[in-house]
Amino acid sequence: MISMQILGGFQEYGKNCFLIEHQETGTRIMLDCGVQNGQPEVYPPLTPEIAQSLDAVFLSHVHNDHVGALPLLADKGYEGPIWLSEASYVQIGPIQQRWKQKSAVPYQAGAGDTLHFTPFSPATKGQRIIMTDNLSFEWGHSGHMLGSVWYIIHLGGTSLFYSGDMVLDSVTFQTETPTQSSFQLAIIDSGHGGQVTSRQASEQALLKALENPDGSYRIPVSPSGKACDLILTVYQRFPDRRLFLDPALREHLSDCLSYAANLRPGMKEQLTNLLADGRIACITSDQASASGIYFTNRRLEGTKMIPIDSPAHPEFFYKAHPDLKDVEKLLGGIQAEQLVFFHSKPKDFTKLIAHIPKKLILNGGVYL
Ligand SMILES: [Zn+2]
Ligand SMILES: [Zn+2]
Repeated sequence: MISMQILGGFQEYGKNCFLIEHQETGTRIMLDCGVQNGQPEVYPPLTPEIAQSLDAVFLSHVHNDHVGALPLLADKGYEGPIWLSEASYVQIGPIQQRWKQKSAVPYQAGAGDTLHFTPFSPATKGQRIIMTDNLSFEWGHSGHMLGSVWYIIHLGGTSLFYSGDMVLDSVTFQTETPTQSSFQLAIIDSGHGGQVTSRQASEQALLKALENPDGSYRIPVSPSGKACDLILTVYQRFPDRRLFLDPALREHLSDCLSYAANLRPGMKEQLTNLLADGRIACITSDQASASGIYFTNRRLEGTKMIPIDSPAHPEFFYKAHPDLKDVEKLLGGIQAEQLVFFHSKPKDFTKLIAHIPKKLILNGGVYL
């Protein structure tokens, strides 16, 4: 039997962290180890007892709400392997630097340097990676960002599915569906599960807002699948405009090319063209240097910000998690005795639950 302790990420949008135990063998794993973004950040309740009892940690991707509490886990005594994709691993270095610069953290400085990352290569996709007699796993691309993966984890004779953050219809990134359909436990991203959204409608609203060819606009994004989608969409739609990228975003696009198996068909060529195009430049100061479209989270004088993350502007809302239809589609291919929806705000969770057919709950399994 599998038991689960949710340390964060249930009915909240942040600090995703799940502790799973196979009771017969005592094998214990952790799925993601994130913090709740904000000032201050909120950490999951990690203890030495938890940290020192774990056999392995699995990371779905490198966003802060999935990895930000790793230094605390190390500080509490975890010394074991931290599994992640190679494409996630190449992004960890700058994150470790940021951990060092954070103030008011609940761990000793440098704790994040002692972590043991164990990346798996793209060639292992679909294969079973065996750690012990009681613990093995498979992975597939989850479409959320560069390096993001879902896991099927085999614990003793049981298995569970962890979607990580998932996007079924990314413009840029590949998504595979799980190779197995029946699980004791399925932990499913339902981040936008309280609504049905149209990617096309938000693209149209965004492109319309950028219409003036002489304007200087800023789209506030950091490295993510959403950023890659928006950059590629704007690049293709406005062939005469200049695009300015935050240096971190440009580097991110180069990393994407290094892991082209992560990309949808045709996207490697499009990204190659974009990176070689003279109308794409890096942002080098805090001011707009010319008219064009700027992609950065930094404030830039002389630009009009397009509020893509503001509740006051739902027309620009761009999906980065499954919406209600996506969750239903995912559940069409998965049967689980226990089904856990994570990454939803309480009101979205309530709306989602009202729509999920009760017949999907097997053996008295619960929505935790
Ligand atoms: Zn994410
Ligand atoms: Zn997340």
